[in-house]
Amino acid sequence: MPMRLIDTHTHLDFEHFDADRHQVLTRCRQAGVERVVVLGVHAANWARVWQLACDEPTAYAALGLHPVFLQDHRPEHLDELRGWLARLRGEDKLCAIGEIGLDYYIENPDREAQHHWLDAQLALAAEFELPVLLHVRRAHAPVLALLKRHKLVRAGVAHAFSGSWEEAREYIRLGFRLGLGGAGTWPQAHRMHRVLQQLPLDSIVLETDAPDIAPASHPGMRNSPEHLPAICRTLAGLKGIAPEELAEASYRNSCELFGWKADARVSRPAAPRPPVPHR
Ligand SMILES: [Zn+2]
Repeated sequence: MPMRLIDTHTHLDFEHFDADRHQVLTRCRQAGVERVVVLGVHAANWARVWQLACDEPTAYAALGLHPVFLQDHRPEHLDELRGWLARLRGEDKLCAIGEIGLDYYIENPDREAQHHWLDAQLALAAEFELPVLLHVRRAHAPVLALLKRHKLVRAGVAHAFSGSWEEAREYIRLGFRLGLGGAGTWPQAHRMHRVLQQLPLDSIVLETDAPDIAPASHPGMRNSPEHLPAICRTLAGLKGIAPEELAEASYRNSCELFGWKADARVSRPAAPRPPVPHR
């Protein structure tokens, strides 16, 4: 039996997977990657992300407005997002709001606009009682300040976390998990290795961010949720625990976060659902 795993962060709707998306998900299932979360990044890809979640039994959708795609966002997209969330309320294939956050690492970030979008989407997360999947680069302090204000009951994940132990502890205090993936497999990621050793097991979820953040085993190549078992083995080694222990803990944490039953296996294809028309 392979270790059971959940990839909490992918962009499987991107064109990088157009040629073999279904085959990738089939191989994932055989490798023990039982569920894969696909995140929307701007209004134009929500329909595609949702359709993918409907078509593939192991794919789940999150919808959101990503800070790096700021130029694509329009004021009316917030109402559109609310419309999607209202229509999909109670659908088990909708699992979070994301990808949202602050990115102060990009060149000339418009901090005020990023702040506005994040603030508004955190309010939606509170309103719809959904967890949030956060993209945070060089902006942990302002993100944490906003999270303290919104007090989200279901919290969420600081994805691709590469901050300090102090920052990790702040997220954990707010009920958040830290998303770890390929970046930690690189030998030069010294601080991350130290933080990983300190992180309590119940705070970790695993992710690939496919097609981005390839692990050290596949430098410069397309990342894929198929690599999650290998990433889990490397990170467990760095933490000094058995891979099965990290797999089981992160699996349990992900299920708790998204409200999934930890022992329910996804094997049957889901009944076809009508697509939600994109406005
Ligand atoms: Zn992402």
